[in-house]
Amino acid sequence: MTLAADYIVIGAGSAGCVVAAELIRRQVGRVIVLEAGPSDQHPLVKMPFGLVWLMGSKTRDWRFSSTQQAGLEGRQLKIPRGRMLGGSGSINSMVWFRGTRRDFNDWGYPEWDWSSVEPAFQAVEEKLRPHQLSGAHPVTQKLSAMFSGNSGAAPTPEYESAGVFNFNLHNGRRWSAADAFLRPALGSGNLQIITGVEVDRIDIETHRARRVILVDGTEISAHKGIILSAGSIGSPSILMRSGIGDRSDLSAIGIDVKHDLPQVGRNLHDHPSVGLYFAGPNSGYGLTLGQSLAWAAAPFRYAMTGKGRLASPTVEGGAFFNARGTDAVPDVQSHFIPFKLGWTGQRYTYGAGYFADVCLCRPKSRGELRLLSADPRVAPAVDLGILQDPSDLDTLVAGLFRLRKLLAQTDFGSYRAAEVFPAETAQSDDAMRRYVIERCATAYHPVGTAAIGAVVSPSLNVMGIENLWVADASVMPQVTSANTNAPSMMIGWKAATFITQEAA
Ligand SMILES: Cc1cc2nc3c(=O)[nH]c(=O)nc-3n(C[C@H](O)[C@H](O)[C@H](O)COP(=O)(O)OP(=O)(O)OC[C@H]3O[C@@H](n4cnc5c(N)ncnc54)[C@H](O)[C@@H]3O)c2cc1C
Repeated sequence: MTLAADYIVIGAGSAGCVVAAELIRRQVGRVIVLEAGPSDQHPLVKMPFGLVWLMGSKTRDWRFSSTQQAGLEGRQLKIPRGRMLGGSGSINSMVWFRGTRRDFNDWGYPEWDWSSVEPAFQAVEEKLRPHQLSGAHPVTQKLSAMFSGNSGAAPTPEYESAGVFNFNLHNGRRWSAADAFLRPALGSGNLQIITGVEVDRIDIETHRARRVILVDGTEISAHKGIILSAGSIGSPSILMRSGIGDRSDLSAIGIDVKHDLPQVGRNLHDHPSVGLYFAGPNSGYGLTLGQSLAWAAAPFRYAMTGKGRLASPTVEGGAFFNARGTDAVPDVQSHFIPFKLGWTGQRYTYGAGYFADVCLCRPKSRGELRLLSADPRVAPAVDLGILQDPSDLDTLVAGLFRLRKLLAQTDFGSYRAAEVFPAETAQSDDAMRRYVIERCATAYHPVGTAAIGAVVSPSLNVMGIENLWVADASVMPQVTSANTNAPSMMIGWKAATFITQEAA
């Protein structure tokens, strides 16, 4: 196969779909998108509740795991990442948050302050049209009573607030970056999407990105440039296999160093998350005799109307608040799931209930990603660094106590359920600390492994290499205060602007 294009985008995820479609709209030439996974045209991808089965799928989830986490007494964490058109945006819960103004102003780079990113968010939202979930379970709707003065609007990380979240869903179906951006761009005739092709590395000659080399050895040339949008695990791995990374690390595994850039793979972080479990006969969704008819009818109801429990993205709402209640500025987010979740590891559990987590908005802990081999079939070592900074544990503990109090004060009416785990086993500060260490996971928002200012310039060029950009969640120097899909798509939009400006 001999292939060539003006631009090659590696990875058709949240950011990759946007950057490819925007390059096409700006008429920069022929674009090829290379995606390791299959198409996203599958009922479980389109049906919001389907994510329960997609996570862990052998074909649509990369199923990474972390190294043994020192902060969690050696526990390893699952790291799901979408592997299909739409990327992680095809297996995510579709929660839509931009982050806060402060998040972007604090990054401290030209072109990334709030006034520069806001128009890009607006442009993305014009196509994606995120909106507050309709048909949320009544117990989720009750969340808006958590803070006085709440109008029922979606909460915001800018101040303490609670309620039903905004989602990128349309008529009960997932509406990802592949739906809103990539597929519509096919009409131009200048876009080629190739699925089922895994990229090994980028061929760099005299500090210039020339072509992409697939795992099967196929080479694809890029006349004008290559955009790496393989996500926070994939992008640094490809950079390192291409010889861009820490010289001694790469040499140790036999990779020919093309450019010594020690920060590739460093600064990895994610939102740590840990939650409380509630059960009660009249509360949320669950497997009960009383709900058996509703579950049996759910597939038909969903097929006919796009509504009902299978239209639930599982997370339906939540809150932002200050863990210690000492400041009006939220430092934690809570995701509320109106389903009874099990806490003993089983997939299905009987009874009705709900679950709410506490998730740090701005974690201080950092980990790193390293290659173990030059062979692309060997997964990298992913150290998420969870709870490496003691203040993260302190804030999670305080946040769980405050969450417990806030949920107790919220008027759930007849939908109220009792906390069943950790309940009385985590009443003291010490017991709650133990609980966090034993149970803490992440919200699946890894970022930072090719950060602006450390690996890429503010215009997303890989430092020291021509014609190579990174456009995905890996470029965030610090994770935003809420879910990361919207910021990833905004980054894709900004990347297309920079690349087009450079080409002009
Ligand atoms: C289970 C889950 C739930 C989540 N829930 C939410 C949520 O509700 N709201 C929210 O805002 N965020 C959520 N997130 C996070 C959000 O989806 C991600 O932050 C966002 O999608 C990241 O976008 P990206 O473009 O950086 O990477 P991705 O969307 O992951 O895209 C990377 C793409 O590159 C491809 N790729 C990787 N390596 C290669 C290779 N070697 N060759 C070819 N292709 C390759 C991948 O298959 C993938 O398609 C969730 C994530 C997960 C996993």
